[in-house]
Amino acid sequence: MMRPKQRQWRCFHCDALFTSTKTAAVHFGATEVNKAACQLKDYEEHLVVYIRELEARLDGYIAEDSHVMRAIYTMEADHRQALIRAEEQGYNKGVQDAQKETAPCQQRATTAAS
Ligand SMILES: [Zn+2]
Repeated sequence: MMRPKQRQWRCFHCDALFTSTKTAAVHFGATEVNKAACQLKDYEEHLVVYIRELEARLDGYIAEDSHVMRAIYTMEADHRQALIRAEEQGYNKGVQDAQKETAPCQQRATTAAS
């Protein structure tokens, strides 16, 4: 009986071999966009700068101060103002319509009183 072949991951950058998902994920990162740990050496001289950039980005996400969140807040404010404007226009139209409706009655009342 054949034993199931153990899964392996080999890094094509440094040729390191990983036999567990956990150690492979640590080396390769959780997603495809992450840099492999051995490639982070590129940042060795600037590793602190790189870490500080990541910290700042993380702080921004935590504070909801990312470009995306600012764009969403701007869109929400624009939408809110458009709703207020539409409501005011509707109210003004209603007042004008009411004035048109009551104008003949007021004219008759004024004519009758004189
Ligand atoms: Zn590697």
